[in-house]
Amino acid sequence: MKDFSDHNSDLLLDISILYRSTQKYYDQMLQSVSLTYAQLPILILIYENEGISQQRVATEGSYDKGTITKQVQKLEEMGYIRVQPSQKDKRAKELYTTSKARQIMSKVYAIRTSWWQHISASIPQEDMDSFSTFYKNMAVSAREFAQADLSEILFFEQQNISLESYPGKVSTVLSTGGCNFRCPFCNCSHLVFLKENTKSIQESQILQYLTRRKGLLNAVLIKGGEPLMHPELLPFLKKVKALNYDVKLETNGSYSALLKELIDQNLVDEVLFHIKNTKEKYGETIGLKDYDIKEVQSSIDCLQKTKKSITFVFTPIQELHTMEDLLAMARWIQPAQKLELHTYQEKETVIQEGFHGYSPEALKQAQEKIQEIIPNVVIR
Ligand code: SF4
Repeated sequence: MKDFSDHNSDLLLDISILYRSTQKYYDQMLQSVSLTYAQLPILILIYENEGISQQRVATEGSYDKGTITKQVQKLEEMGYIRVQPSQKDKRAKELYTTSKARQIMSKVYAIRTSWWQHISASIPQEDMDSFSTFYKNMAVSAREFAQADLSEILFFEQQNISLESYPGKVSTVLSTGGCNFRCPFCNCSHLVFLKENTKSIQESQILQYLTRRKGLLNAVLIKGGEPLMHPELLPFLKKVKALNYDVKLETNGSYSALLKELIDQNLVDEVLFHIKNTKEKYGETIGLKDYDIKEVQSSIDCLQKTKKSITFVFTPIQELHTMEDLLAMARWIQPAQKLELHTYQEKETVIQEGFHGYSPEALKQAQEKIQEIIPNVVIR
C-alpha cells in the first residue's frame, strides 16, 4: 500500500492537516477558559495592541466584516474584551482586554508554546526559523492575493512564436489550465491536473508581450486544457482584439454558450473543434462514462451556422476508433467546412499509457473514405 506519510509535496493537503490538527489541539486545551481556536488570534492581537481598532484586527487577520463582528461580540459577551468608540473617529471601535482576559493570558501563551514545541520537536532550530519566515511571507502573499482582482484569466504555458499553429500567421500560443474532460489518451495531464506550484502567467504579462510584439506577431492561439471553462476569457479576448490580433480557439466544444458569445462578439476568427468519438462512445472516450453530449451537440449546431473559419479535428486512436466510428463522426458533423485528421503520438505527459495512433497508411485510407462525406479533409 502507498505510504501516505511520504507523499510528494502537496501544500494544500499539508496546510489542511496542520490546520485541523492545530484546531483540535487548541479547542481541547482552551475548553477550560471557554475560548475557541478561532477566537485566540483575535484575543492575542488585542492583548498585544490595547486600543487596536476592529478594522485593524480585520485587516491583520484577513477576517471578513461579518466574522470579525461576530467574534468581537462573542469575546465581549464572555467578558474578555471591552469595546469603546474611538475618541478620534466616532465610527471606529477600539478594543481592549479586560482583567478577566489578562488573568488567563499566561495560560494561553503556555498552550501556544507547548503546541509549537510539539510540532517542531523533530526539526532543527534553523529549519524552524526558516519555516517561520517562509510561512509569514506566504501568509502575507496569500492576504494580498485574496484582496487582488481575481477576474483575470491565468495561463500556464506560452509558446512565444509559432509559424505552424495558425497557418499563414505568426502567432503566440497560450494554454489555459484545467479541463472538464478526462480523455485517457490526453497528452496534457500537466494542464488538466495542475500542480499547485505550476507557474502561472498573468493576463497583464501576456497583454504587455502582445503590445510590444505588435507588427512581429499577428495572431494568438488559445488552447488548453479547455479554454472555454474560463468565463474570464471573453474580457481577455476583447483586450487582445483591441490590439488587432487574429484569434484562433482550440476547444472540446463543451461550453456552447460561451463559444457562441465569442463568435457573436467577433472575438474569435477561427475555431478548432476536437470531436472525440461517435455520440454513443463519447462518454467512454472522454473518461466520463455518463457524459451528456448536449453541449457538444449545441456547439456543433452553432459552428455549422457561422461564417467563421471552422475546422473539426478527429484524432484516430486504434483502441478507440474503428473506421466505421470515424465515418459516423463525419456524418454527425456534416456539413463541415474542413476536417483535420491528427496523428496521435503518446507523450510522457499522457494521462493513461497504452494508446496507439493510426499508421500513416490507415490515416490515408480514413481520409479517402471520409472525403466521400466531407470533401475537405487534411492529415496533420
Ligand atoms: S484531450 Fe483535451 S479535452 Fe481531453 S482531457 Fe485533454 S485537454 Fe481535455
